[in-house]
Formats: sequence, structure tokens, C-alpha cells
Amino acid sequence: MLEITDSHRAQVGAMQVRRALPRRARRTVGAWCFADHMGPMTATPDVGADIGPHPHTGLQTVTWLTAGELLHRDSLGSEQPIRAGQLNLMTAGHGVSHAEQSTGSYEGTLAGIQLWVAQPEGTRHGPPAFEHHAELPRVDLANAVATVIVGELGGTSSPARRDTDHVGAELALPGGATTIPLQPHHEHALVVLEGAVDVDGTTVTPGHLAYLGTDRDELGLRSDGPSTAILLGGTPFDEQLFMWWNFVARTSDEVDAARTAWNDDDGRFGTVDSPLARIAAPPRL
Ligand code: MN
Repeated sequence: MLEITDSHRAQVGAMQVRRALPRRARRTVGAWCFADHMGPMTATPDVGADIGPHPHTGLQTVTWLTAGELLHRDSLGSEQPIRAGQLNLMTAGHGVSHAEQSTGSYEGTLAGIQLWVAQPEGTRHGPPAFEHHAELPRVDLANAVATVIVGELGGTSSPARRDTDHVGAELALPGGATTIPLQPHHEHALVVLEGAVDVDGTTVTPGHLAYLGTDRDELGLRSDGPSTAILLGGTPFDEQLFMWWNFVARTSDEVDAARTAWNDDDGRFGTVDSPLARIAAPPRL
């Protein structure tokens, strides 16, 4: 199976993004429920990803840069610069808030992807948490290097927290043909960040999600030149999700409660030490 959907262009802070998930035709891939391909944009010390404090519930944010750097601050007191090839993983549980801003010194290209993983019932009401992984394991394949961001690929596992059975990897393809090992019980999808990647005779470029279905134990890829793609996979997520704004929940009432708690600043989402303005939740239509 190969199903290509077009990403939706949106503006997040100062950044143009291409939203590959969720789309009407494809809401989740495993527990992955959101994928924003960010940039590329030119960042200056003053203008970067200036995303002020905002809340999350019921999800993990997976921030992955292919170029540049950002500064993450959250309501747990974390203050963590992130650079290309590093992972910021924030678990929202019942509630957390964070801001993503320029580091104040970086000048150059800023690009990457922000992903969300839906938390399962067993952890989504739990406490928030934050992890930073400066080094992640790599798998050397013929004509490809896979960096295992979360989960397991080709027998190599990421140390990052994982509440469901899912995998995320960056595939660096110098050109030529390669084969990526997959778990057949996972469904998979590919988001190309740079270049162009041939999948089953179809060329996939940035701005699309290539959904690959389940029952593949490997994936043959070909590229004519240097390309970068993100592989997402996991056991199909069988809990009904209700997503609105920055909240992943199960019902409309849960979203209403989270929205009110944030806009009333009642303490559920804590406080972020950030010079950027707090982003109010929009009206629910
Ligand atoms: Mn966020």
C-alpha cells in the first residue's frame, strides 16, 4: 500500500510549516498524531521560532531539527537549547506548558519537524516530564544512515521514553538504493524533509505524507541525490482521539476544561519563564 496525502501549509509563530498529520484522510500513524515540517527559514538572533508559552495535554512533543537551534523552556523549569540531530521530548500528561524561541545568538537556516505522539489512557492523566537526548543511536545501512529518535529500528533502540509501541527515525540518504528494516505489525509513513525519495516507483517530495500501511518487513527506497526523510511507525492506535488546538483528549468536554484552565491560568499548566507573550486558546467554534 502507498497512499500520498498533501500537507497543509500553516504559520506557527514566525515559521511556515507543512502539516503532514493530521489530515482528513489520515489522522494517525501508530500513536503519531501530528507532524509539522518546519521551515526552512532564515533565523537571526532576533527572529526564529518565536512560539510563546502555550499548553499541551495527553501527548508527547518530539522536536527534531535538521538545521539550526532553538531554546525550549517549560513549566517544569527546563531550559534546554536544542540543535540539529538532538531530541527534545516533552510529555504533557495532565498538563504542561512550554515556549520555543530563538537562542538569541544563532544566525542561519532553521528547519526540522515537530511531531506529537498521543499518550495512551494509562499515562495521559499522569505528570508531565521532559527529556533531552544530545546523542542518539545510528544504524548504518547500505546507502543510508538511520538515526533512531524513538523506538527500535534494525535491532537498535533509542533511550527516549515511549508509552506506546512506536518508532521514529531520521533517514539520511546520500543517493542510491537502500532497504530499511521494518516491523510488519507496525503501520508506517514517510515524510521527506529534503530532496526526493522514490518509494515503490513513486517519487515523494517535501509537502506530502507517504502512508505505507502495515505488513512490510522492509522498505526499499531510492534517491538521486542527498535526501532526508522521517520514518514514522507504530501499532495502529485504537483509542478514539479528540484533538483541538494544542490538546489531545478523548472528548469535547475534556478539551473545554483544558481550554478554560489555560485561559483562566488556574495553575494546571504551570508557568513558563519566557520573554514571549502567552498564547491564549482561541474560541471554540
Ligand atoms: Mn508546543
